[in-house]
Amino acid sequence: MGPGCRIITSAAVDQTSTQTRPAVRRWLRRIDEATRIADPATEAAFDKRWAELPDRAKTDAQIIGRASIGCEGTHGVFPKCDFACKPCYHSTDANRVRIAGPHTLRAVRAQMAFLRSARGPASYAQLIGGEVSLLEADDHAAALDAMRAEGRIPMSFSHGDFDDDYLHRVVLGADGTPRHRSISWALHIDSTMKGRTGFPKPTSERELDGVRTDAIAGFDRLEADHGIRSYVAHNMTVTPSNLGEVAETVRRCGRLGFKMFSFQPAAYVGNKSRWDEGFREVTDDAVWDEISAGVGQPLPFRVLQFGDLRCNRIAWGAFVCDRYVPILTDDDPLDAAARDAFFTTFRGNRLNVPGWLRAAKVARAIVSNPSVVPAAVSWARRFVRRAGGLRALRRGIVPVTFVMHSFIDARDVAPAWDLLKQGEISDEPQIRAAQERLQACVYTMGHPETGELVPACVQHSVLDPHENRQLVELLPMRPR
Ligand code: SF4
Repeated sequence: MGPGCRIITSAAVDQTSTQTRPAVRRWLRRIDEATRIADPATEAAFDKRWAELPDRAKTDAQIIGRASIGCEGTHGVFPKCDFACKPCYHSTDANRVRIAGPHTLRAVRAQMAFLRSARGPASYAQLIGGEVSLLEADDHAAALDAMRAEGRIPMSFSHGDFDDDYLHRVVLGADGTPRHRSISWALHIDSTMKGRTGFPKPTSERELDGVRTDAIAGFDRLEADHGIRSYVAHNMTVTPSNLGEVAETVRRCGRLGFKMFSFQPAAYVGNKSRWDEGFREVTDDAVWDEISAGVGQPLPFRVLQFGDLRCNRIAWGAFVCDRYVPILTDDDPLDAAARDAFFTTFRGNRLNVPGWLRAAKVARAIVSNPSVVPAAVSWARRFVRRAGGLRALRRGIVPVTFVMHSFIDARDVAPAWDLLKQGEISDEPQIRAAQERLQACVYTMGHPETGELVPACVQHSVLDPHENRQLVELLPMRPR
């Protein structure tokens, strides 16, 4: 032993281990917290969310408070749009507000920080106005960064009337390197929209198929040229004028590459001058039947519930060869059992979690609740059988989610929200129904200045008109 070596006596060992024990304990505690299926902040947010749901929404099928906290959106950050759709959910003054990057960034940062503090560390959130592509590309990119910085997974909500150059400037830095490896956009493309380049007044959905194809091609090029993966959703408002085209649109465009098709039955919300007769003839059932006809079978929507079924219907699944295969069906008790096992074992939110950590969390959850394994195996067998066997699956699988989101008419939202704020439940069935839906809302907007979380219905029907009038003062259009 050379003179430089330290002789470690047993006393020194004892002393060292006494010092290291708390450090080891802290380290183990950190590992324990990190590998729990839900971190403590998410668990608290989920508990709160579940507790706030009205009783009728606390069903076995409910996703909120189990696998999701719900979605979020921005408001008042760039209200202007350059289209003239019927209906339009923006208030009359929205187009009198100048788009200004610094305002957008300030408001997005404040709203996202507030949403994080009020709703937990991670969520999906829409960057929505207004038309997002009217933002300068750098401002758009900075707004997405601000959302990510607060744990949000942002989705840019657009009418899709922008070119490759704009898309590239949003997703690529000045040196041409990708700002992010994966991006999400929702493109609203339908014949109720007026003002699209080349199709200012479309008379049918079929006319817009080329727009849909081109849009997907633009995102495909991003992946091929720059390795940026995209989640692109297709949005469509449904009115009496295009209800009869929904099924055909799904048949023609279902496999184009959109990961989600979301349909919004028209509601009497927003700019009254854009309302038409007959919106309420387009019932939820009528729209869902059309979507089902498009995929070639009745789509299940009760086995998984997102908020209130009068607001949302969702079917997750995939096209396999010539059929659409839902991941779960409404009428198989084994599917319901698989869902319950999933909710019990994996309760929590794994958004923004690195792949290796997600795997560790899932592994630990399975070890804690091994009964999920046979449920998963049995579910996988049923899925393969419904898909037509392994051979069919090997030929390709195109995952597509179908969604219907029905806004509540403004005339019901205002009294329902007023009473809710006073802690009262209405005796009037229609207003009470609106209250139940608002309480179970899955599309939330944040008001850091008042500390309020509000459903998007309340934002559009009650708050937007006042907010936009204030924004007109703050950001008047520049004189020509
Ligand atoms: S925004 Fe309105 S329609 Fe949508 S989930 Fe919330 S309450 Fe229901």
